[in-house]
Amino acid sequence: MSLRNLRHSKLWLSRAFFLADLLAGAAQGGRCPSCGASGASHLRSPGRLFNYFFECRRCGLFFRPTGLLHGPIPEFYYSQVYDAGLATNGEAVLDEELRARMVGNEGKDRNELVRLLFGPPDAGEIAVFGCSWGYEVSDLCRAGYSAFGIELSNKRRDWGRHRLGLTIYESAAAAARAGRAPALILSSHVLEHIPKLESVLDDLQLNLSARQHIHITPFVDDFRTNPERGSLIGREHPLGVTTEFWRRWSHKLGFEMKSRQGGNLAGSASWELVTQIGTRPGA
Ligand SMILES: [Zn+2]
Repeated sequence: MSLRNLRHSKLWLSRAFFLADLLAGAAQGGRCPSCGASGASHLRSPGRLFNYFFECRRCGLFFRPTGLLHGPIPEFYYSQVYDAGLATNGEAVLDEELRARMVGNEGKDRNELVRLLFGPPDAGEIAVFGCSWGYEVSDLCRAGYSAFGIELSNKRRDWGRHRLGLTIYESAAAAARAGRAPALILSSHVLEHIPKLESVLDDLQLNLSARQHIHITPFVDDFRTNPERGSLIGREHPLGVTTEFWRRWSHKLGFEMKSRQGGNLAGSASWELVTQIGTRPGA
């Protein structure tokens, strides 16, 4: 099969999967995929036919109906169907120069942001959650940090391990079993893909006991009123992660939280939400 045909069939497979995921979510009554809240007292809907996202008043997330992206299905979906945009697609992983250019264009080099919000390499070890094949882990290691990754997709994890020689675990529990105790958990454009977000974050913190988190997600706080945010919740992003969600989750942990729209922070863009959570929320 040619590359063009492959891309074409993946696009259709991805659309079919999206439709099935939406229908499965709707069949479950449009519950909040993360905390399970349902009903009009918990979920606020704009009430328009084609504007199908909800706001969960219990946990603060925005979401579209989703019913398939849990259990064993995400590994298949994110390994075989979803190409995660530019820098993680099949061509870029085979071409170092192209990869560097794409990562640069996407603003995925987080070293400066980490140095600013967390500190220099002696501030402690870093776990990159949802690290794909490890471009951030690789960049951090190059800058002198001790960093490892956690990645669900077998295909990407194996590529990072074997081609780049990086340490990447399949889960937070596997990293903990290997004796890892990172000071910081970092994620970038990952959490908005994970419907059961709260339990995944709880699991991360339970296993790794990091003293700080930095999570970068699309900025959606003004999703209802700003038409520019249109594509940030939808097919590839079942969730919109809000400042309100972070406020509640950090409160549950007894941590401090600082959440802000990117753009003025080095290494972040205005359409990103940069959230720091921990015992020492930093700059
Ligand atoms: Zn909820």
